[in-house]
Amino acid sequence: MSTFGTQFMPQMSLATFADGTWSEPRLVPSESLQIHPAAHVLHYSSTCFEGLKAFRHEDGQVHIFRMMANVERMAQSSQLLGMPSVDEDLLATMIKEVVATFADEVPEPPSSMYIRPTHIGLDPHLGKAASPPSESMLYVLLSPVADYYSAGSGALTVLLEEEGMRCAPHMGVCKSGGNYASALSFSRLSQHGVAADKVLFCPEGVVQETGAANFIVIDGDEVITKALDNSFLHGVTRSSVLTIARDLGMTVTESEFTLTELFERIDKPATEAALSGTAAVLVPVGQFLYRDKEYAVGSGAPGPQVQKLRAALNAVQWGQSEDTHGWLTRI
Ligand SMILES: *Cc1c(COP(=O)(O)O)cnc(C)c1O
Repeated sequence: MSTFGTQFMPQMSLATFADGTWSEPRLVPSESLQIHPAAHVLHYSSTCFEGLKAFRHEDGQVHIFRMMANVERMAQSSQLLGMPSVDEDLLATMIKEVVATFADEVPEPPSSMYIRPTHIGLDPHLGKAASPPSESMLYVLLSPVADYYSAGSGALTVLLEEEGMRCAPHMGVCKSGGNYASALSFSRLSQHGVAADKVLFCPEGVVQETGAANFIVIDGDEVITKALDNSFLHGVTRSSVLTIARDLGMTVTESEFTLTELFERIDKPATEAALSGTAAVLVPVGQFLYRDKEYAVGSGAPGPQVQKLRAALNAVQWGQSEDTHGWLTRI
């Protein structure tokens, strides 16, 4: 399969908001989109998106993982941007319809169909810099994707960044392109000239998240991660991993933790760390780069606890263990 997110299904589902109402969704070709060059999104970044996946089970049926959590987050992001409110039933219908249309194209695990709902502001009005759009477009793109991480790939090297901030603190929970753009000067690794795979933001010494994934530490039977606040994106994978950890009898500690505490934890031989997100699921972190020095996490190699949590989450997604939390929507 080609590079993540470069191959698309030929059609997407699209609806527009104008005069206070949403249009009926329709399937349209996904290779192009016509919008006015003055469209609000192109100038003032009125845009947000989601990322979720559909999986093929052994019996051939297709299931979407935690669809409503993603739909609700899309509505929340749109609200934070002052955009037209997303009709949650409409978006859920659009997702289910387009996945049903291309159900035959959903690959077998560990591959999946990545679903990318997108909401953009359309008003062709350059004077609206200080007001949100009143016209918008919602579309749902599909992209078949391979497993982002395979067990043999080893663990990631993560650069700890304490100077920069990923985004403005009040926008952390908004899944918006603007946040990605604002993180770029720090998350663009080539700029640092170091051999790191990702950048973990630690504003004022508090361990937060990377440009597109949440961060967890596993110290024996304890899973530690930053408690929810408005400064970072509340990942659906994060919430799923924590729920599964509790199901497996592990202790989950959600609290603010500093770089000092992080270094104390990773010094222990059995400590593990990982990044969580829909695309990558749960990827082990083997070492940190901090002020030109390298620090191994535990042994530095992918550890058994991250592997166990990842396998347990995949088992639900792939229909190999019972969906006790009602996370799957059958198409
Ligand atoms: C999407 C995203 C995540 C991961 O969220 P999931 O719901 O687990 O995919 C984490 N951080 C940021 C900044 C994100 O945009």
